[in-house]
Amino acid sequence: ELSQRLTVVGKAVPKGARLADIGSDHAYLPVALMLADKITYAVCGEVVAGPFHSAQTQVAKSGLTEKIVVRLADGLAAIEPADNINAITIAGMGGTLIANILENGKIQGQLTGKERLILQPNVGEANVRFWLQKEGYQIIEEDILAENDKIYEVIVAEKTGVKQQLSEKEVFFGPHLLAEKNSVFLKKWQQEQQALKKVLTQLQKAKVIPEEKVAAIQKELSWIEEVLSC
Ligand code: SAM
Repeated sequence: ELSQRLTVVGKAVPKGARLADIGSDHAYLPVALMLADKITYAVCGEVVAGPFHSAQTQVAKSGLTEKIVVRLADGLAAIEPADNINAITIAGMGGTLIANILENGKIQGQLTGKERLILQPNVGEANVRFWLQKEGYQIIEEDILAENDKIYEVIVAEKTGVKQQLSEKEVFFGPHLLAEKNSVFLKKWQQEQQALKKVLTQLQKAKVIPEEKVAAIQKELSWIEEVLSC
């Protein structure tokens, strides 16, 4: 049974897609999507030998070796032109790493701009949105969910040709999540507010107060207060 987190990621994969799942670990997502007839082909990319073998084992056990290819590769280097990939999922890692993987893929030419990107950063979501905006992607959908006491965001983006100009605040909170402000979103930012207040108290106790850091946190806290108050 797929986790709720990966189920939400999978929902954003277009029907009939040719999918690249990068950092696939056990290949749970592509295997589940293939068994549900949601995708027609998949590449699982893994950079670490252990998870790479887990993915191979899972694909073989599910009898899907003809439709799912597992490759040991760093980031989007797992993708070959003949794969004709039109959807990429990158889930369960930090936002900075996700943005780096996308940036390297762009430089190396594996990312063509025709793929739908479905990204699930565990932390540092703003880094992902910042990269997408910089590269002319449009964030077409966002989701937020709680599972096992953790809160996860899912960001879906495409290069539609329509320029999306996000404000700094939209990059920080997520444009769709900010517009919707559902209960999970409010809970996330209440928790974040508590955590940031603690950090601020600590910083202000330092012998030499790091003014820039303090100012950055105060700015974020004022945004969060504003968002939580209305
Ligand atoms: N995507 C799965 C999920 O969401 O449940 C697995 C997440 S797991 C925490 C992250 C995986 O990404 C690890 O198996 C790790 O080896 C892999 N990974 C990290 N950096 C990578 C990279 N540059 N290229 C490919 N895989 C990477």
